Amino acid sequence: MDKKIINQVINIVGPENVLTDNEERICYSYDGTFKRGIPDIVVFPGNTQEVVSIIKLANSEKIPVFPRGAGTGLSGGSIPQANGIALVMTKMNKIKEINENDLLAVVEPGVITGHLHQEVEKLNLFYPPDPASLKTCTMGGNIAENAGGPRAFKYGVTRDYVLGLEVVTPTGKVMRTGGRTVKNVTGYDLTRLLTGSEGTLGVITEITVRLIPKPKYKKTALVIFDNLDDAAKTVTVVISEGVIPATLELMDRITIACVEKNTKLGLPLDAEAILLMEVDGSDAQTTEEINIIQNICKKNNCRRIEVASTFEEREKLWKARRAVSSAIVQLKPTKISEDATVPRSKIPEMIRRLREIATKYNLNLPVFGHAGDGNLHPNIIADKSDKEEMERVEKAVSEIFEAALELGGTLSGEHGVGIMKKPYLEWELGEVGLEYLKTIKKAVDPNNILNPGKIF
Ligand SMILES: Cc1cc2nc3c(=O)[nH]c(=O)nc-3n(C[C@H](O)[C@H](O)[C@H](O)COP(=O)(O)OP(=O)(O)OC[C@H]3O[C@@H](n4cnc5c(N)ncnc54)[C@H](O)[C@@H]3O)c2cc1C
Repeated sequence: MDKKIINQVINIVGPENVLTDNEERICYSYDGTFKRGIPDIVVFPGNTQEVVSIIKLANSEKIPVFPRGAGTGLSGGSIPQANGIALVMTKMNKIKEINENDLLAVVEPGVITGHLHQEVEKLNLFYPPDPASLKTCTMGGNIAENAGGPRAFKYGVTRDYVLGLEVVTPTGKVMRTGGRTVKNVTGYDLTRLLTGSEGTLGVITEITVRLIPKPKYKKTALVIFDNLDDAAKTVTVVISEGVIPATLELMDRITIACVEKNTKLGLPLDAEAILLMEVDGSDAQTTEEINIIQNICKKNNCRRIEVASTFEEREKLWKARRAVSSAIVQLKPTKISEDATVPRSKIPEMIRRLREIATKYNLNLPVFGHAGDGNLHPNIIADKSDKEEMERVEKAVSEIFEAALELGGTLSGEHGVGIMKKPYLEWELGEVGLEYLKTIKKAVDPNNILNPGKIF
């Protein structure tokens, strides 16, 4: 990047908030995928006005800007696709307000999601969205990706909690959307448009989220099945009996084997599936619901049920689920984590299709994920230095998307399109839908400054 422009950036944010060395820039060239792209310069703005000045400079010099939170994304959303500025929002990390009367919190985008959880829970309040990356990922990244998580089935995803946003537009103006009320139908719903916009329509600089009272009790069951169809049937029966678990997670045989190899928790290697189910609410409600769940599991031929009611017992059951991401990459170094989502009733069919695809292309394909909302995570574990294997991976990914769409599902339940899914977008949106999206982008970002090369 031209030295003059670098100096202008330094004048805006201060020299301590700019990185230009090669080694430092490399650290901002990746996310949770295997894709890479090195920015020319890494910039950490400290407030909204600094973001405005950077975006204005970028427009006048026609330099792309790539907003970034913690870089945990699984679709390549924050990865620079051209030379330009990595705009890292992690220094704007204040919780500005937690309001117990209006049940809301106002935060800066760099706040780590798990930190917000801790702070609101001290006041017996609850912010449900819980991406598994919550100890690292930022609220800005969660809004930009409309993140989900294990609790989404009962409580909904990030978009269900966003009341209002402050956003710097791609041309450098400050806009406020929504507000502090649960009801708000004034004008187009720009809050929803920006939630899930993957850093392409604005830089989020402040977020107002809705809170709810914290459920007092939790009960957790870990259930082992010899047959995957029995596990999938259990999921549908539990829900049709009127029980909506806060968590309903599934692990298949390959995932169980990887977790057991890594953790030595004593998981049965000959089991076909494990379901982790958690209910929350009052003491009476959770007791009744966990009893119903146990009866349904027994009727559907489960091999074993372990129920936890204390914090320690619960942590033990969750250990297996939390170990999944690190365990599966022991097979090979490159993880291609998909989040194709199908209607819940199609889970057994989708898993069958995934197994056929894995066999056809001779790939490691553990499946785990959020069974309650059909958001499975088929993960292909490969080695990106093996060209021939990566060609098979590409074909397999394309067939996974085809299968999800044929079963009435979607390409992405929570990770977004980024660069990973953009070749397939038209399959789901159609030509007209895709053109509509592009028209919005062109209208608000005429110079194509903000996160170019993402989504389409
Ligand atoms: C182990 C692991 C588990 C995960 N589990 C889940 C899960 O359960 N559910 C889930 O939904 N996701 C999950 N993810 C994916 C990822 O954590 C989420 O997408 C998360 O929301 C990304 O947040 P981030 O701060 O890391 O954002 P980044 O990865 O830095 O960026 C993600 C996108 O947001 C944009 N962005 C970031 N900040 C801003 C801002 N302030 N303004 C505008 N755009 C911005 C970026 O340009 C990019 O497009 C997981 C990832 C990992 C590695």
